Amino acid sequence: MVRTRFAPSPTGTLHLGNIRTALFAWAYARHHKGQFVLRIEDTDLERSSDASAEGILRDMAWLGLDIDEGPFFQMQRMDRYREVIAHMLSDGRAYHCYMSVEELDQLRDAQKAKGEKPRYDGRWRPEHIAKFGLKIPAGVDPVVRFRNPDAGAVTWQDAVKGKIEIANSELDDLVIARPAPVGQVGVPTYNFCVVVDDIDMQITHVIRGDGHVMNTPRQINIFRAMGVEPPVFGHTPTVLGNDGEKLSKRHGATGLNEYAAAGFLPEAVINGLARLGWSHGNDEIFSPQQLVEWFNLESLTPSPARFDAEKFEWLNGEHIKRLPIDELAKRLEPFLKEAGYPTSGSEAGARGDGFPAPTSLAVGELLRERAPTLKKMAQMARYCFVAPEIDDALLAQHLNETNRAAIAWVGEQLSTIEWSKAALAAMLKEAQSKFNLKTPQVMMPLRVMLTGSAQAPAVDALLLTLGRATAMARIRV
Ligand code: GLU
Repeated sequence: MVRTRFAPSPTGTLHLGNIRTALFAWAYARHHKGQFVLRIEDTDLERSSDASAEGILRDMAWLGLDIDEGPFFQMQRMDRYREVIAHMLSDGRAYHCYMSVEELDQLRDAQKAKGEKPRYDGRWRPEHIAKFGLKIPAGVDPVVRFRNPDAGAVTWQDAVKGKIEIANSELDDLVIARPAPVGQVGVPTYNFCVVVDDIDMQITHVIRGDGHVMNTPRQINIFRAMGVEPPVFGHTPTVLGNDGEKLSKRHGATGLNEYAAAGFLPEAVINGLARLGWSHGNDEIFSPQQLVEWFNLESLTPSPARFDAEKFEWLNGEHIKRLPIDELAKRLEPFLKEAGYPTSGSEAGARGDGFPAPTSLAVGELLRERAPTLKKMAQMARYCFVAPEIDDALLAQHLNETNRAAIAWVGEQLSTIEWSKAALAAMLKEAQSKFNLKTPQVMMPLRVMLTGSAQAPAVDALLLTLGRATAMARIRV
């Protein structure tokens, strides 16, 4: 059974780079009918916060990344890590090291002076104590170090980057517990906790950002020391801005919560995130279900992906167009409310003009092809709820002696015509032929009168949405 995990540190809001990693881990688990685990890595007490952990849960729920197990919190698992460390100390897989910070610095300086890479020399390994003639200093709390293999290399087939090999001579004996008196185990360190967790949580595939590549050989050695075959590792490339620079605010919103607030659909965000480093043929627009169906690790690109805010918005517009209309209405409703517009039938007349306001379904129908986000759709919908201010000069551009009579005739028809799109469309056509006008000569002045702008949806759709009373009030010549 495939089991993947997302292991964020709760030190801020989820941004596009790390939620994309979560998406890939989730999609992989879902594709294989496996399980997806959430682990909150909250051991950095200064930077971690409950608010951030709650935000992570909220953002994941919004995106639809459902979890099968967790959230597990590392701070609640300290006893378990300490138990494993005590065990490793007892059988020599780990040992106490009493080297002081000053001694370590001296060692580093000496190594650098010789042109060597600074690394701990293993001097407190039990068998070396005699060799170096070391005496356990009084009053010093030792750290615990993992006994890394001396010879050979760590090799793994990274699911994204391909084969990676790191010589053990590059890796020194990692500190796995911070200083504590002998007999107690100090605070376990990050690389160690991750391994214990991935073992206990039976993770089969570790999909994470490529900032962790250099932790992986160390972690693999700890896995092996614990008698467990390491999982598959796949390190996903960084997300950059579209100019190739590190992704920042300059390139557009980076926090997932900002996308929710701006009226992005979670399915569009999933689509956009997936396309940052993953592809399925030439498919640009796909649903979360399709992503799950198609997702594989082989199609992840090892080179950095570039985030393009405009493309995200375009994708969102495409997903808005594809949403079933009642679903669109439901999702648009909060944005209309936020903009201060009454929408439901029960609030009809709440505009103060006595005329019923269009429903969110009608507004969605009218604007779904035109707005890239729900927030922009709600902003665009202003004329559905508030009488537009008409710019006389703009109206004069479109209404003059050639078409005034036609527009007046249209106004007259409104009181009695059957209020259906087909009847309204036929009436507008009739106005054209009757007065011998071209389409824009009829439509443009009506658009300006109905919405205050010449850039507006088709007039039959506008009339239908605004309703008879409002249309009659606005079309006056
Ligand atoms: N907590 C780590 C991070 O947020 C993730 C570690 C991992 O996935 O192994 O970068």
